[in-house]
Amino acid sequence: MKHFRKELWFQVPTRRAFINITSQIEDCLRESGIRNGLLLCNAMHITASVFINDDESGLHHDYDVWLEKIAPHEPVSQYRHNVGEDNADAHMKRQIMGREVVVAITDGKLDFGPWEQIFYGEFDGRRKKRALVKIIGE
Ligand code: ZN
Repeated sequence: MKHFRKELWFQVPTRRAFINITSQIEDCLRESGIRNGLLLCNAMHITASVFINDDESGLHHDYDVWLEKIAPHEPVSQYRHNVGEDNADAHMKRQIMGREVVVAITDGKLDFGPWEQIFYGEFDGRRKKRALVKIIGE
């Protein structure tokens, strides 16, 4: 069995953003040479997510509005976590949007359903952060 590991780095200039990383994941898959197996991608930070959904800007706006309703950034004083930091909402947003995705690899391709794309969700950006890609198979 072959295995492959790579870190993808991000420096998002805003506090929150959704970035389509599908082509970067496909580059990893090509680099790995693995044709059949499983791919894991996870955020390596507790204030960021990796998730799969549609690449549609209206939906991403809706996510942002929805997440702000559930875990609003302001006022930062409403959270006990925010002693010396201001990112309690980012921890909660990450919890809702998830840590990782697993995708089947079939004949050298991501074996997606219709419209599926992989996103890095940033909830406390403006610094260097990363996601891990691990691929196993043959
Ligand atoms: Zn924190």
